[in-house]
Amino acid sequence: MSKKIVIAVDGFSSCGKSSFAKLIAQRLGYLYIDSGAMYRAVTLGFIQNGLIENGVVKGDGLLDNIKRLEVGFSLNPKTKKHETTLNGVVVEEQIRTISVANLVSVIAAVSEVRERMVELQRKLGIGKGIVMDGRDIGTVVFPSAELKIFMTAEPKIRAERRLKEMIEKGQEVNLAEILANIEERDYLDQTRAISPLRKADDAIILDNSLMTIDEQMVWVEKLIEERIK
Ligand code: C5P
Repeated sequence: MSKKIVIAVDGFSSCGKSSFAKLIAQRLGYLYIDSGAMYRAVTLGFIQNGLIENGVVKGDGLLDNIKRLEVGFSLNPKTKKHETTLNGVVVEEQIRTISVANLVSVIAAVSEVRERMVELQRKLGIGKGIVMDGRDIGTVVFPSAELKIFMTAEPKIRAERRLKEMIEKGQEVNLAEILANIEERDYLDQTRAISPLRKADDAIILDNSLMTIDEQMVWVEKLIEERIK
């Protein structure tokens, strides 16, 4: 019998981490958690509660607000997909807009926000059999994950992929705007004081600039096999 493991997928913004992690989870029958969606949901909550002024988080009421924000996931019975919820309301679409993307890395650098999210993420991983993607999964959330992958790709390729996705969703965006957002988030994520984005020492690098999703799955299969035996 194969054992259940924890798979951590970290890396830069818009590298295709979620598509990759989702597919692994589907093949293994594991739970997939998009930790970025959790930070995006908190960001949306702060915007809705008027806690952000000129791109800066207001200190007052912050702790109180975090405690009141319930972030979770619910299964859509029609699509069979998990959707992010904020205080019980599905916010999957709202959290993927450029206005949330432009603020999320600032919010994700707030220590109280990270503490709350990491606590939630660890609870979700208690039973193992989980694939989680993010920035600090292999370094902070699950430092003893059995398989850690660090994803990267050329910024321009990442921006083109994201542009395609957003246009398909009917959003009005352009390549320059997306590239600027990706570069800004990479910078903020790597330089923040708490849990910065970095490759865990025992993570394996996957540069998927020129790889299809099928090629990435073939690449990862052997690594998974070795660990679940
Ligand atoms: O993965 P995604 O791009 O949706 O994540 C949105 C943002 O959330 C990232 O740019 C990063 O600032 C933050 N994040 C984080 N730690 C994680 C996951 C995401 O700080 N584990």
